[in-house]
Amino acid sequence: MTDLSLLSLALEAMEKSYSPYSGCKVGAALLTKEGKVYTGTNIENAAFSPTVCAERVAIFKAISEGVTDFSAIAVVGGKNGRVDGIFAPCGVCRQVMREFCDDDFKIILGINEAEYKTITLGELLPLSFSPKDVK
Ligand SMILES: [Zn+2]
Repeated sequence: MTDLSLLSLALEAMEKSYSPYSGCKVGAALLTKEGKVYTGTNIENAAFSPTVCAERVAIFKAISEGVTDFSAIAVVGGKNGRVDGIFAPCGVCRQVMREFCDDDFKIILGINEAEYKTITLGELLPLSFSPKDVK
């Protein structure tokens, strides 16, 4: 699975976004260490706090099926589904990634359908609180 293929799956997932309040559509595609992909999209709610991000939907889908080893996630997003810049994971999603992923976990951030930036979880969330801190 190439970075661009994973990005393409994130773009497809973005199309299913339920975002009637913000108009921000986000898609994520999570690659497991075994090569399986779980996708997610953001799901908003009229009460706002039940809203969940695309990244967490993808991660929780995998966790709920007993998969906990991940190598990369591609994330794309934009107002009204127009991807014209990086849509970086929020702080909550970064912490959820930290729960299951090491510093070298790759995060592929789509800039547009042909361009992307790659960063690691260690770069995105340095000096983080992790399961190692409580075990
Ligand atoms: Zn988030």
